[in-house]
Amino acid sequence: MATRIIRVMGDPVLNKKAKTVTNFGEKTVELIEDMLDTMYEAQGVGLAAPQVGILKRIVVIDVSEEQDDPIILINPEIIETSGEQRGGEGCLSVPGRQAVVTRPRHVTVQFQNRNGETIQREAEGFEARAICHEIDHLDGRLYLDVMERELTAEEIQSHIPEDDLE
Ligand code: ZN
Repeated sequence: MATRIIRVMGDPVLNKKAKTVTNFGEKTVELIEDMLDTMYEAQGVGLAAPQVGILKRIVVIDVSEEQDDPIILINPEIIETSGEQRGGEGCLSVPGRQAVVTRPRHVTVQFQNRNGETIQREAEGFEARAICHEIDHLDGRLYLDVMERELTAEEIQSHIPEDDLE
């Protein structure tokens, strides 16, 4: 168990493009374990490697209620999208802020697992949103680059439901 420091907005590493993972050895396994520990400790639902300062195309996501069902995406690529969802979105690298972001409602993502096997996964709703958000990190984009507007402190507190934002 080891957590790493989460880089916050203003750190140039967050604006750089991450590199394809070709090594599925011990170092990559250790990075993934640390990313999971870091995400859970920060009570986040997703974390991309650049957020801990490592420019590799690795994402961890856990949108389950119990936070016990992680999805690990290595070299992820969205190969199909459909529909649209508007909703509030936050980021561990942009603490205390949220914004309205429109994302696809469904995505199909192709990625490699820890063994380097290529897998496809379909996701919808909040999981689809998280996948899009985290893959943006791998290309050096924060949600601030794609948002409609920021939420006010009052809106953040009142937990506005998805698709119910003006
Ligand atoms: Zn983020």
